[in-house]
Amino acid sequence: MQTQKNKDRVFSFEFFPPKTPEGVQRLVETQRQLAQLGPEFFSVTYGAGGTTRDRTLETVLAIQAAGQAAAPHISCIGSSRESLRDVLQQYKAHGIRHIVALRGDLPSGHLSAGEFRYASDLVRFIREETGDHFFVEVAAYPEVHPQARDAQQALKHFKIKVDAGADSAITQYFYNADAYFQFVDECEALGIDLPIVPGIMPINNFSQLSRFSEACGAEIPRWIRYKMQGYGDDSASIKAFGLDVVTHLCDRLLSAGAPGLHFYSMNSAGLVSTVWQRLGLS
Ligand code: FAD
Repeated sequence: MQTQKNKDRVFSFEFFPPKTPEGVQRLVETQRQLAQLGPEFFSVTYGAGGTTRDRTLETVLAIQAAGQAAAPHISCIGSSRESLRDVLQQYKAHGIRHIVALRGDLPSGHLSAGEFRYASDLVRFIREETGDHFFVEVAAYPEVHPQARDAQQALKHFKIKVDAGADSAITQYFYNADAYFQFVDECEALGIDLPIVPGIMPINNFSQLSRFSEACGAEIPRWIRYKMQGYGDDSASIKAFGLDVVTHLCDRLLSAGAPGLHFYSMNSAGLVSTVWQRLGLS
């Protein structure tokens, strides 16, 4: 891995669009606290099949109105070209310049895949429709996407997506730094030369994290799982151990030259801010 200079690193925080007025209020406060850390941008997720389309837009506009750069996620599975053209035009009209382009997963009960099969189709469509207007991020999977049958094939699919016009990539979260280093080396060997920013998931609610990880193919190493299970209902110990694990992971990644960090904040500033301070990033 090539070493990245400190000033070139990109730090970002991810939100999901809140469902209730109380959630909206809480997010305003979370954003205010995290904005003080000086991130490059805040990204906002998009529900499967476009189910949060309006709330994602509202959240993005609220971030922008607070003076911060916002990057909406867009997923293409189950969508038509027409509807995605509208979404892109809407963001363009609001002066948004940064997008996270994903395939997404079909919501249960939704049978039609729509007009796009893979995220690479969406990246190509964004470039055809809007040229260089958007800085386009794509997803990467150091521990291999759960639907991939073969890691080498998955790497080739990743290259197709990058070649379709991606500018940067954000990874699925992981707790095994070596999987990331190996993935980055393999990408470099294939001539993929965009920044691959590690996605970082702070550990708070361990049973929820286990469920998420099962679904998205992120491995929780046995030693972490056993320690966490050993703490039972002792949430203070879970939090303290989780902070140690995640801070150490981030430190290793940055020391080895990772081009930044993207924190899955879960709309909460506490754990992210603590990791940030411990890393001495302020
Ligand atoms: P793709 O890159 O299309 O890959 C999906 C699968 O298809 C992989 O197994 C890949 O190997 C395979 N594949 C790709 N191209 C080909 C090809 N040409 N031929 C055969 N197989 C191929 N989901 C949401 O719904 N909303 C979000 O906001 C959201 N945000 C995310 C943010 C990040 C940073 C990450 C890492 C994931 C996010 N996801 C989100 C989850 C993501 O939508 C799922 O992981 C989804 O299953 C795959 O999306 P993708 O864009 O990686 O798809």
